[in-house]
Amino acid sequence: MSEFDILVSEVGPRDGLQMAGAIMPTHLKKRWIELAAAAGLKEIEVCSFVPPKVVPAMADAEEVTRFARTIPGLTVAVLAPNARGAENAIKAGAQKITVPISVSVSHNRANVNRTPQESVAEIARICALRDALPEDERPIIEGGLSTVFGCTIEGEVPLRDVLMLCNALVEAGVDEVGLADTTGMANPESIRRIFKAVRAEIGEDRLAGAHLHNTRGLGLANALAALDAGVTTLDSSLAGLGGCPFAPGASGNIVTEDLVYMLEEMGLRTGIDLEKLLAIRDVLHEGLPDEPLYGFLAEVGLRKGGRPIEKVASIQ
Ligand code: ZN
Repeated sequence: MSEFDILVSEVGPRDGLQMAGAIMPTHLKKRWIELAAAAGLKEIEVCSFVPPKVVPAMADAEEVTRFARTIPGLTVAVLAPNARGAENAIKAGAQKITVPISVSVSHNRANVNRTPQESVAEIARICALRDALPEDERPIIEGGLSTVFGCTIEGEVPLRDVLMLCNALVEAGVDEVGLADTTGMANPESIRRIFKAVRAEIGEDRLAGAHLHNTRGLGLANALAALDAGVTTLDSSLAGLGGCPFAPGASGNIVTEDLVYMLEEMGLRTGIDLEKLLAIRDVLHEGLPDEPLYGFLAEVGLRKGGRPIEKVASIQ
């Protein structure tokens, strides 16, 4: 039996920092990752392999990845938008590479300057890079589907397009497909419906997890709905770091501290120490003094003795 029920995957060092107004110094990124692993996080998306000209905050991607690989027991995940980025990620030792692809054509063009079909072809090239490696050195390749629950440019996204793209990705050779609500347009009903549909289409073992944003305050409700649909991996970001440049004041990813609190209160084990987790906010504040830090748990604190209730149950 595994020592946790739900895998909480911290994406702050990638998703949060690429959106932040300032650049966090490399040594503080390392500190954050080190402390997050020490708090019990088992998977961290540490950076994005993008050209530094496009995202200056990720210029130290290689160094950060190499550092993270020295932490025992940690799965080092990264994001790479194309084969060149994936190649660099592999060289640096990334164990999991998420390649973003939007279901809607306009969003994919805006994000990676390609049609979704062109992205699928690029992902096939990345899978070929993986397959050329010795078996024990191969990273997991995840197709990270965004605009699954709605597109800021095109509006509603047809489910058949989502399913078609999932199948195309599996055919291209991805190990997993993850569904992301990058635009913050999902609700618990659409989460339940679409995750179940994708699961039925490509199989449980290929559906990686849910990447949810709290743009409109539905983050935790959506996380709960994803659990209902059988999801066992949830992405989140410490202090909800992230946000959207087009929605001033809107918070970003779901807050790791609040998510872990909810799961543990429900009797679902995460293996994460909440007190240690909350303490990492100091590093974030030090590295990004002007960035707002979100989270309810940090506001009220933990009750004496840590978790308020005895853990009573666990899901299947
Ligand atoms: Zn995101």
